[in-house]
Amino acid sequence: MNPIAYFRAADAAEALAHASGGARFIAGGTNLLDLMKEFVMRPAALIDINNLSLAEIAPLAGGGLRLGATARNADTAYHPLVRESYPLLTAAILAGASPQIRNMASNGGNLLQRTRCHYFYDIGTPCNKRLPGSGCSAVGGLTRQHAILGGSPQCIATHPSDMCVALAALGAIVHARSAAGERQIAFADFHRLPDDRPEQDTTLASGELITHIELPPASQFAAHSAYLKIRDRASYAFALVSVAAMLDIGDDGVVREARLALGGVAHKPWRLPAAEALLVGHPADAAHFAAAADALLVGAQGQGENNFKIPLARRAVVRALEQAVAGTHDNTRSERDRAD
Ligand code: SF4
Repeated sequence: MNPIAYFRAADAAEALAHASGGARFIAGGTNLLDLMKEFVMRPAALIDINNLSLAEIAPLAGGGLRLGATARNADTAYHPLVRESYPLLTAAILAGASPQIRNMASNGGNLLQRTRCHYFYDIGTPCNKRLPGSGCSAVGGLTRQHAILGGSPQCIATHPSDMCVALAALGAIVHARSAAGERQIAFADFHRLPDDRPEQDTTLASGELITHIELPPASQFAAHSAYLKIRDRASYAFALVSVAAMLDIGDDGVVREARLALGGVAHKPWRLPAAEALLVGHPADAAHFAAAADALLVGAQGQGENNFKIPLARRAVVRALEQAVAGTHDNTRSERDRAD
């Protein structure tokens, strides 16, 4: 039995004052509590941040949208302003987890959820992410879910979030607060590649609190976006490969701007502006989509069991772009009916 202190903070200052000595913030707890039950994470204290007034979803003065850190994933996905201006984000959130988990999981927690590498959850096996320096059981082991891009000899885990793939494509900004003050982190810099420190998932400092996520204006993409998730079963499964595709297409059919992000293939959502640039100034057609897919997957390397992910990702990028051209699909109505 591990003794755990619990403290419900009234405001951010109080939460930060307690954020030391192995304490963890908790909001929905949908991943953290699982990890604690399996003894993968053993925080000395839990600081409940649900009373911090961080659940607001509201327009920003200069355009864009503020997503509070403790707003629930379901409330975010179904929010009218998200559905109207960021349908890609709605689609990505609804592709993840189950209605019950989405009702509980917070936006900040979604960003901080940890890999679902089975060795990470099995405390009887070596895992550099769980116990630095112990080794990586996935190298030479079961790798169907593992990375094809950006891995290291120390870790080939993938980031499990769907929401984060959309946030990467949208160019979101993470706002964080610590005792030293407030700062903004570009989404591309928020999650890390494993390198030789796989235990470090993000660039968030110890004791730093996510307050909200800023979505820049993206109305130019609203008509042509798609989130495609390919998984082993139709629901409640993590992505083998997922694609967030956003296109701004002129009346002449030429692409003015493009965004592409991959999920399920790396330690962080995978985005490469050079691949997106190959689409700009050209017709939105299969030849250019294939060229962009090839560029996005340059350097991809399988581990044997997951070699299939490379051609799968290539085809998924092309299909997601074709779906984006066809028009953004509103998948919220029937989902909400089922969830309610
Ligand atoms: Fe651990 Fe990463 Fe290796 Fe999985 S891939 S066993 S998380 S070090």
